[in-house]
Amino acid sequence: MGGQGVGKGTFARMLRERHDYNYIETGKMLRDAAATNKEIADIMARGELLPFETLAKLVSANITSDKDILLDGFPRTIDQAKWLVDNYSDKFDIHVLYLDVPEEIMIKRIQKRIREGGGRADDADINAVHKRLEIFWNTTKPAIDWLSTVKGIKFSDVDVQGDLEDNFKNILNALQQ
Ligand code: AMP
Repeated sequence: MGGQGVGKGTFARMLRERHDYNYIETGKMLRDAAATNKEIADIMARGELLPFETLAKLVSANITSDKDILLDGFPRTIDQAKWLVDNYSDKFDIHVLYLDVPEEIMIKRIQKRIREGGGRADDADINAVHKRLEIFWNTTKPAIDWLSTVKGIKFSDVDVQGDLEDNFKNILNALQQ
């Protein structure tokens, strides 16, 4: 978990090079769905979140028990976090990695992603970028804070403000806990 531009996708890719995860990337799945669903596309273009039911369906349909699961972009709200804990903490060992960076770094990284032409429609609109930042602090950060208090799951606050390799080392160290 973490704000936009903190490197969730990048670190997920690096983790997947080392371990065979069932990778569930809700943002990518929803971007694919948006190609044929205008309602989803419009919500995403505004930088807003999709409804809880859509996410619960999407995530539960992709959860399998044959591999470790890497969830990227989920949960993002307290409701989603509670749903995950209520439905899955007895079946899986849940470990939340909070990729913790200040907002200035998120903005710098997202500007870099735009300059390098990541091609994400929701990055192109500055209002959508601001909306996503606002949602992160007002909605996702409280979900992260709540998860840090839940007994029976692991929680790591990971410093990813340094260079890529150091950040990744911090992630691997956190996973050892
Ligand atoms: P991401 O690629 O993770 O930044 O997600 C891109 C967009 O997909 C977000 O701005 C939301 O519109 C939507 N989205 C992704 N994950 C979720 C989620 N867990 N809950 C609601 N909407 C989501």
